[in-house]
Amino acid sequence: MSETTSTHYCFYHPSVETELRCNKCGRYICPKDAVRTPVGYRCKGCVKEQQDIFYNATALDYVLTAVITCPIAFIAALIVPRLSIFAIFVGPIVGIIIAEAIRLATSKRRGRYMWIVALVCLIGVTIIPLWSTLEFVLGGGLIFMPQESGGILLSVGLDAIYLVLASGTLMARMRFGK
Ligand SMILES: [Zn+2]
Ligand SMILES: [Zn+2]
Repeated sequence: MSETTSTHYCFYHPSVETELRCNKCGRYICPKDAVRTPVGYRCKGCVKEQQDIFYNATALDYVLTAVITCPIAFIAALIVPRLSIFAIFVGPIVGIIIAEAIRLATSKRRGRYMWIVALVCLIGVTIIPLWSTLEFVLGGGLIFMPQESGGILLSVGLDAIYLVLASGTLMARMRFGK
């Protein structure tokens, strides 16, 4: 490797020639591995390291996330079917309440998968009280009670809209919120 022309090879792909370097550790990386950051191109290793500092949640924070989300989501799931059309407005509010409660309890620490835990808890807990209605509908119950079908379908639909809005708001707050 003592030629006059100095060719450099990608740290991750030893057969790929490249002149691009990570501006943190100085390794040669091909454009495929380069991650554009606000401070320039960096290698995957350096980006991961940076994210690990950014995501500082402990295992306890994940437990707290579940412990906080479940009761709030459960109470909301009991109230929402009584609200009829107002369920739509309650969705985003519930999402915000859960996200803020988690933020306070975990002292604003971040976890890479914390939003997934919260989302699974929210959806799981919301579906439990709905389950009997859903089973009834799927089991063909509406055929035997056609006079009730409109009301039941409307309430299932509103609950579904509530859940989508609550989950969407919660996810947006936890993933992208400050
Ligand atoms: Zn690097
Ligand atoms: Zn490469």
